[in-house]
Amino acid sequence: MQDTLNPPATAATQDPQAPRQQVTLLGATGSIGTSTLDVIARHPGRFQVYALTAHSQVAELARLCFRFRPAFAVISNPELAPQLTQLLQGLPETTVLAGSDGLQQVVTAPAVDTVMAAIVGAAGLAPTLAAVHGGKRVLLANKEALVMSGGLFMDAVRDHGATLLPIDSEHNAIFQCLPPHQIRQMDGAGVTRILLTASGGPFREMSLEQLETVTPDQACAHPNWSMGRKISVDSATLMNKGLELIEACWLFNARPDQIQVHVHPESIIHSMVEYRDGSVLAQLGSPDMRTPIANALAWPERIDAGVAPLDLFALGRFNFEPPDEQRFPCLGLAAAAFAAGGTAPAVLNAANEIAVAAFLEGQLGFTGIPRLIETVLGQMPVQSAATLASIMDQDQEARDRALGLLPGRSGSSAGNRSL
Ligand code: NAD
Ligand code: MG
Repeated sequence: MQDTLNPPATAATQDPQAPRQQVTLLGATGSIGTSTLDVIARHPGRFQVYALTAHSQVAELARLCFRFRPAFAVISNPELAPQLTQLLQGLPETTVLAGSDGLQQVVTAPAVDTVMAAIVGAAGLAPTLAAVHGGKRVLLANKEALVMSGGLFMDAVRDHGATLLPIDSEHNAIFQCLPPHQIRQMDGAGVTRILLTASGGPFREMSLEQLETVTPDQACAHPNWSMGRKISVDSATLMNKGLELIEACWLFNARPDQIQVHVHPESIIHSMVEYRDGSVLAQLGSPDMRTPIANALAWPERIDAGVAPLDLFALGRFNFEPPDEQRFPCLGLAAAAFAAGGTAPAVLNAANEIAVAAFLEGQLGFTGIPRLIETVLGQMPVQSAATLASIMDQDQEARDRALGLLPGRSGSSAGNRSL
């Protein structure tokens, strides 16, 4: 994100003669992907789907292709390409591509204006960074990509003239509350603090003892948001807020001490910005990702998102409390990894991805998630994160170590008994 966000020449306008914005949607079959297509479908004169991608949900991807008729459909698991080709036989205008080369092609194609980065996890880093290198308008949902590669990513945004717009509801809220020409100048804009709101997740009121026995289905039953399973578990552990703290530091060029997490269980205030004169600006809305998605798709204009208007009388009151880092240590682990710098956030992210997958598969208890991440972080000295290769190397090593530490794995260290 630049200090000044100039509307790109290809920005959608309401001029009926204007060319439609060509959109590549990475992670089309996911929760963000589905919400994005819902907004796009409301504005057929404004947006055209150039490419849709998915990893393994072939039938769902094919169904979406028949509905949105993109030029390309990419299945990132190449083994499933023949199946997708078969399913799309009746759709000659859609060309099937596969694997990372396919993803690379549809994010960098000259015809593409906008890339929605909505793959979950580290798998989204390479295609998202490729879109940045292509100078695209990049709508960033895939926070893990920025957490892993922070400085490298933001330098690439600047060097390649990309326009970076946050989709994460909190970051989109902050973006809306900052002066458009001083998005990355906290001091210049007179900003004293960013108040990053958090729902607190489904286990906000549970004791540590109760947290020992929670199940994946309980963790995925978020009180306010409907999301993919990985981010749902991250919300329950507060790792999501930790990743978002790092994300906010990079996006807005802020120091961690300028960002304060406020647990706000209603999830109506999506974040706030405090100014030197005592003003606090907030962005409010129903907990529906179509609002930030529509905001970023149409920015700097405003379009209908299909979101129900807020009924503040029905809501009645808002509550706030500080986060409890004793019961939810992931927030502190993320802050410490950001302070350590270099590859530490990538290691944190990789260990978290393994821990969350193991929890979802019933191999690791909920309270084992932060313990596993802390153990892996403690084993790996911080290295320079100056290249994508060094980041991916540390990501892989962290995954290998985390897998080795899982309870019941052969070759795992004695330390695993405490996980
Ligand atoms: P999801 O699990 O619902 O969907 C993930 C998408 O990524 C799917 O389309 C899947 O096919 C694709 N994918 C998965 N593994 C892949 C791989 N190895 N290679 C290529 N593609 C792969 O996830 P989601 O909830 O939509 O979240 C997507 C991203 O957006 C995450 O980074 C999440 O943190 C972020 N985000 C989500 C929400 C939300 O409300 N869901 C809110 C804020 C941010
Ligand atoms: Mg969020």
